[in-house]
Amino acid sequence: MKMHDLISMARKQNRSALDEQAGKALLARYGVAVPLSVIVAGADEVAQKMKPLKFPVVVKVMSPDILHKSDAGGVKVGLKSAAEVEGAIRTMMQQPAIAAVRIDGFLIEEMAPAGQEMVIGGLRDPQFGPLVMVGLGGIFVEVLADVSFRICPITRLDAQEMLAELKGAAILKGARGRKPVSQEAIIDVLLKVGGENGLLTQHAADIKEADINPLIVSDAGAVAVDARFILS
Ligand code: ADP
Ligand code: MG
Repeated sequence: MKMHDLISMARKQNRSALDEQAGKALLARYGVAVPLSVIVAGADEVAQKMKPLKFPVVVKVMSPDILHKSDAGGVKVGLKSAAEVEGAIRTMMQQPAIAAVRIDGFLIEEMAPAGQEMVIGGLRDPQFGPLVMVGLGGIFVEVLADVSFRICPITRLDAQEMLAELKGAAILKGARGRKPVSQEAIIDVLLKVGGENGLLTQHAADIKEADINPLIVSDAGAVAVDARFILS
């Protein structure tokens, strides 16, 4: 599906944001790796629909009313069989925060290889236009606010500098016994999002806010496992 279709479809449904699968489809169009996924309406469809997927998988609730799926009890990782997926969906449907809201379905997707969780984001400055942001995931973002920003479009050198500026930059190189991650893979995603032909630069008028959280980066590459785009 074309970028334009993804956005016009959301608008037609009076939605101010792309759902997770549409957001990932948009990233995939710009060459960012995302997990292979299917959507089911409920547990009954699982066995049939998830045939193309390899275990282990993740299940996530899809709802325009839920911003943080984990907080609502709407994410279950590491599922190893169709029966486990069915069970996870049934349990989710009983969570108070899920039972009370509109549900679009459940996203079942392959697990990304383990790695460092990063955040890549975008927002629009009234004066400077689209900005792209990168940070280390988890407490680095939430507590330490360790992020760096640039105005789009960024160059490869900008992307390299953005990573080097992070206070936690040493983590990426394998500090404290961690495995080093592919900085090239992060730079590559930063360019696909904020570079000259990148998503934010090309669609500055449509996208108000972008949030890839997390991008999971290993020594082999980077996969965007959660994506949220708020439309202008
Ligand atoms: P939310 O941010 O809405 O709570 P996420 O989609 O970010 O939900 O999932 C929560 C966490 O689950 C992620 O931060 C990540 O650690 C893990 N996770 C989600 N999807 C995957 C995946 N496909 N592969 C590996 N881990 C995942
Ligand atoms: Mg997330």
